[in-house]
Amino acid sequence: MVAVPNIKLSSGYDMPQVGLGLWKVENEIAPDVVYNAIKAGYRLFDGACDYGNEVECGQGVARAIKEGIVKREELFIVSKLWNTFHDAERVEPIVRKQLADWGVDYFDLYLIHFPIALEYVDPSVRYPPSWFYDGDKEIRLSKATIQQTWTALEALVPAGLARSIGVSNFQAQLLYDVLRYAKIRPATLQIEHHPYLVQQELLNLCKAEGIAVTAYSSFGPASFQEFDMEHATKLTPLMETDAIKSIAAKHGKATSQVLLRWATQRGLAIIPKSTRVDYLEANLAVTDFDLTADEIAQISSLNKGIRFNQPSNYFPTELLWIFG
Ligand code: NAD
Repeated sequence: MVAVPNIKLSSGYDMPQVGLGLWKVENEIAPDVVYNAIKAGYRLFDGACDYGNEVECGQGVARAIKEGIVKREELFIVSKLWNTFHDAERVEPIVRKQLADWGVDYFDLYLIHFPIALEYVDPSVRYPPSWFYDGDKEIRLSKATIQQTWTALEALVPAGLARSIGVSNFQAQLLYDVLRYAKIRPATLQIEHHPYLVQQELLNLCKAEGIAVTAYSSFGPASFQEFDMEHATKLTPLMETDAIKSIAAKHGKATSQVLLRWATQRGLAIIPKSTRVDYLEANLAVTDFDLTADEIAQISSLNKGIRFNQPSNYFPTELLWIFG
């Protein structure tokens, strides 16, 4: 089993550099996927209210703990605050629900999922609430500021509900905003990151500010083809580009592993998603070989500044004025 390195967070805790992403892991198989991943050596799990599978993922964790494969304190469980819970008074109650869903009493890391505040939807009405107030197409914004939401996240730490807190899908301007008033600084920033979206300046800022960066959608368009996005279907899949194929052949590695090694060698944590045991194993073994500086530069030069995971790629045209 490959030993996964840790990244030291500003909170003082260690975060495994490689974990398993849980977006789109179907409910029926989620307990087995998480259980098998723990057996394969995964310790970090990247969940969220919005993924709608926290109960089932928690069942996988419970089984592994019950069988003595792992202890709770050896795991690093990440979850995220959905957009409809940004109002300060909504934060702690929803975190308590999410913890109950997972069957644990603290999160290792809890993130603001998007810098977008939507009006509250009670979990008894619809859970997860998703984007639309009426469950169809009505967008209702909340007036909660990022400062109010961040302050509510900070309160989770002394309450023992989250060990570290962070943000996701924030750009430099919003990070600067949070850093102005944060009493607890964001330990991590989770962003879409792949060779078509390299974001070197944002990584430089995070390094300077001591914020660890986690890459999501490391395989680029692969995760977005099912949404029939124009860019995602027309671009060459990253695993099929000549550059990645020839580097992979040189190292005797899979193209997927080259993509993940490019990210880990740049200092990022990664959370590739897979439900297949062979992929789970391959994706974990991406810190024990080294690309050359030239190879890293060659991969970075594939950059096109293309972001797939933005509301304008999912929403009908008449709603685009809201989120651009
Ligand atoms: P990904 O890039 O990790 O995976 C895309 C697809 O690649 C998967 O569906 C899988 O079928 C395939 N794949 C995985 N391993 C492979 C391998 N070894 N060989 C060939 N194909 C392989 O996509 P993702 O799920 O979008 O991102 C990873 C995780 O990041 C998510 O599951 C989620 O936890 C997180 N995420 C967070 C946000 C956010 O807004 N914070 C957004 C998207 C994803």
